[in-house]
Amino acid sequence: MAGKVTLVGAGPGDPGLLTVKGRQALERAEVVIYDRLVSPAVLEMIPAAARRIDVGKEAGRHPVPQAQINEILLEEAQAGHRVVRLKGGDPFVFGRGGEELETLARAGLDFEEVPGVTSAVAAAAYGGIPVTHRDYASSLHIVTGHAREGSIPDIDFEALVRTRGTLVFLMGVTALSAIVRGLLSAGMDPDTPAAMVERGTLPGQRRCSAALRALPERAAAMGICSPALIVVGGVCSLADELCWFERLPLHGKRALVTRPKARAGTLSDRLRDLGAEVAEFPCIRTEAVSPCTAMEAALGQLAEYEWLGFTSAAGVEAFWQCLRGLGRDARALGDVKLAVIGPATGEALEARGLTADLIPDVYDAARMGEALAKAAVGKVLLLRAEEGSPALTDALAAAGVAYDDIPVYRTIYDNPRSAQLREELEAGRFDFVTFTSASTVRGFVSAVGRDADFSKFVGLCIGAQTAGEAEKHHISVKISEKATIDALVELAADEEKRK
Ligand code: SAH
Repeated sequence: MAGKVTLVGAGPGDPGLLTVKGRQALERAEVVIYDRLVSPAVLEMIPAAARRIDVGKEAGRHPVPQAQINEILLEEAQAGHRVVRLKGGDPFVFGRGGEELETLARAGLDFEEVPGVTSAVAAAAYGGIPVTHRDYASSLHIVTGHAREGSIPDIDFEALVRTRGTLVFLMGVTALSAIVRGLLSAGMDPDTPAAMVERGTLPGQRRCSAALRALPERAAAMGICSPALIVVGGVCSLADELCWFERLPLHGKRALVTRPKARAGTLSDRLRDLGAEVAEFPCIRTEAVSPCTAMEAALGQLAEYEWLGFTSAAGVEAFWQCLRGLGRDARALGDVKLAVIGPATGEALEARGLTADLIPDVYDAARMGEALAKAAVGKVLLLRAEEGSPALTDALAAAGVAYDDIPVYRTIYDNPRSAQLREELEAGRFDFVTFTSASTVRGFVSAVGRDADFSKFVGLCIGAQTAGEAEKHHISVKISEKATIDALVELAADEEKRK
């Protein structure tokens, strides 16, 4: 049976601007055929099992010709696959979506189209430019500035000027001077407000605002490159007042998140919400100690313990896996009380229907040890990392509290991208590197190399122990007030405000 092609608009770049229907189509896709303008963040949503076909042009390489793209679409659909054809912005706005669907229609194949948010409107919006406004423009004209190399785009400038509407030119970077000349010679006021928005809706977005006659010079001075929009009209005068995106506290900043992959999500998302460009570098991962006979034995006699203590979500996971492996569940805990180092560990327990009885006021190993030492009368069972901080057990020992400290997972340091990362760090590509535990610092340093230059970024650290580890490597650190992801994100934003 023949498959089906869903033509999906990926939006202008910000992954949040992919439509719900577009995302659903992606999630069900078996084959995804995509263009150059689809942002990496949207490509990340392609299911791992789906086959990816890149038909976009890369620097120095030619794009796959349209006829061949049409062929690929036909072949994949005829082979019975669920195909998503993913295009930047809206597929029907200078995206050749119509041509591709004609091919499918003529071959009698099933297809669907999911419109996307076009950059013509969205990149302008993120640049603080509403494409229409009752005081300035009552029409919007989207025009292609694309011209064969060297030649002038075939545009009826007189007609455009007569509309007195907002003019948006796509694919116009190369033809910018020709476009401006065309408008001016058709009688447009040289002082008409104009703007360009480069990489609109993406973290690295830049805007260039100027009067029409000065736009080419200003754009050249800023080095504006494709993809960028040219917007011409009175609405551009609002940009300085309405450019909300550029005012996000971390706009233009680049952060590196070093958490293990499974836990990087929230931190990265929060930083992105504040405008930062985020790269993830999971330089550590955790692995359960298996088989863990010590934990199995302890869980077999849980009633002997008054307290069960966890210092990370990974510890909770290892515990839970072991418990389930023994054929038991939460009921095995009976009256045992639960202590956690901080809210994220607490949430890992909550996810299994368990609520922590103790959480220290400062979320670190020493304070957890002190709090437990005060609360405990009976024995404490600690299930944590092989290389767990001695500050916790020292506090218990000092108070004469009996404990068993069982290593239930270990940290593995490995990451193949380290040489490239080192280059980027030393070139000053990152403003911040986040460290959520001392082990992420160790993983990062061992991946990049101890002798690397760590002076080009600020290490944002959760807690004093993490910061202490970073300082050993001469990383200049900022420590979040509380040991939580929220506090770490606030720290990044405050840093920028102070500048
Ligand atoms: N179908 C797309 C447009 C494809 S033509 C859409 O609806 O957005 C390609 C042109 O779109 C680029 O040359 C540029 O002018 C514009 N463009 C696409 N993404 C952009 C972005 N993120 N910021 C600014 N312009 C963008």
